[in-house]
Amino acid sequence: MAMNVAIDGPAGAGKSTIAKAIAKKMGYVYVDTGAMYRAMALYFLRSGIESNDEAKIAASVDDIVVSIKYEDGAQHVILNGEDVTGLIRTEEVGNMASATSVFAPVRTKLVALQQELAKTTDVIMDGRDIGTVVLPNANVKVFLTASVECRAKRRYDELVAKGESPDFDKIAKDIEERDYRDSHREISPLKQAEDAILVDSSNMTIDEVVDTIINLCEGK
Ligand code: C5P
Repeated sequence: MAMNVAIDGPAGAGKSTIAKAIAKKMGYVYVDTGAMYRAMALYFLRSGIESNDEAKIAASVDDIVVSIKYEDGAQHVILNGEDVTGLIRTEEVGNMASATSVFAPVRTKLVALQQELAKTTDVIMDGRDIGTVVLPNANVKVFLTASVECRAKRRYDELVAKGESPDFDKIAKDIEERDYRDSHREISPLKQAEDAILVDSSNMTIDEVVDTIINLCEGK
């Protein structure tokens, strides 16, 4: 049986940073499921499909092939044969992913891909519904969160480091909106699985969070 670790939580809680570090230390494959929703969102944006046009979204799902590959341990997302890894990290794509991930055909397709990956491989997978829907039998489940202020500050600092001049209040508002949408959607809303361990990273360093989760993995 492959080792499966599920990390869920809201945007900006540090899931990918933490999961990548654990994957490296433990020899697991890191699977970023948000990147898959973002790749589909990029397809919808490029096709000029509105984020709420359920009929068009459902009709185009079969034209989309999302897959992932690993180069030097880093995940690359392939959309219909094109490596889109460098194109999906924008706020526009993130917001489109949040809006279009509410639709069943989008989720069904990506959940199947994620389950297939976890069957034969030791994975640490991050997302919103990993512990609840994708890997209900995961060996370790963590719900990683942090306050809105803290997550907005991290995002703000990231953008400043990139030379941008972000608006803190706008970032915090976007985070709140995304949290609300992700946790109030009908299908697979963001929520803590009953058997998941809650880790609030607001006042923890990255190393502290990594060590906490590794301890949980080693206990299995
Ligand atoms: O984690 P990331 O910000 O890349 O995810 C983008 C969006 O994709 C999220 O806001 C969420 O709506 C959606 N998502 C999801 N289920 C997942 C991962 C991401 O619905 N497992």
